[in-house]
Amino acid sequence: MKQRFRRCSLCLASIVLSWLFTDVVFAKDLQLEFQEISAGIYVHFGRQETMTVENYGDIANIGFIVGEKSIAVIDPGGSPAIGTLMRKNIESISPLPISHVILTHFHPDHVFGGSAFTDVPVVVAHRNYTRASTQRAQFYREAFSELFIRSGQITTLIPTDDQFDTMRIELGGRTIEVRQHETGHTDNDLSVWDVGTATLWASDLLFVERLPSLDGSVAGWIASMNKLAGLSAKTVIPGHGVHGSWDQLAAPQFRYLNKLLAQTRAAVADNRRLSDAVNTVAADESEHWLLFESRHPGNVTKAFTELEWE
Ligand SMILES: [Zn+2]
Repeated sequence: MKQRFRRCSLCLASIVLSWLFTDVVFAKDLQLEFQEISAGIYVHFGRQETMTVENYGDIANIGFIVGEKSIAVIDPGGSPAIGTLMRKNIESISPLPISHVILTHFHPDHVFGGSAFTDVPVVVAHRNYTRASTQRAQFYREAFSELFIRSGQITTLIPTDDQFDTMRIELGGRTIEVRQHETGHTDNDLSVWDVGTATLWASDLLFVERLPSLDGSVAGWIASMNKLAGLSAKTVIPGHGVHGSWDQLAAPQFRYLNKLLAQTRAAVADNRRLSDAVNTVAADESEHWLLFESRHPGNVTKAFTELEWE
């Protein structure tokens, strides 16, 4: 009897463990592919979807840059499962150590895979990142609780380096520059510049095909885009969507944000209601973007609040 009880307990324990670890570590239904878009620059292009349990939060572009001595990770992805798979991919591509994790901004689809990189010595973020993380982490944990239960509990990485304007990082035979931006997509946006290949990792300062999501300042975002345009990048990697040339990829976002700014400003000047502005401002943009219906009302609301106090 005792033996049978012990066997059952072991059996139960193994079921619980396999349930926990199957989803947390292996996430067998999840595949991550990294494309080498330029020598030593690897990108995984996320799906053009919102975060769900089914996609494990695999909706953002994430990646890493390999030097001769070490590797810099740019955003560990949207869940612990993504972070874990990303780490496996990196280790299968290069034996070099990961010296830096760069967190481009505190949005869950970009940073909640951090639990796979807690041993990395240098974590680079914007000076406003910690404040954003303190204010929002609990909200995101609750909003995506089902995803994180399935995908393991999240660990929020704590920045070690956040007091800089431009930070140069030497990876051995390769220099990258990390820039802090004024409030735009969020109030804690970073971009990464690979000096040797003139590649700009714009992250969420640039959305391609998917509607840009405003969580900072529409005027500031346009100003940051003008600065990025001045870099004359050969290749640009957006936070969502395909990579390519700045002029080609940035034109639709410039058009949308300029329209959002001008028409919201006019609505505020005319004393129109927010509910009216949500239905009319930049309404003709709907055919050009994925996820327009779910994201555009929030963008108008954010812009309206910003421009009301101009
Ligand atoms: Zn974002």
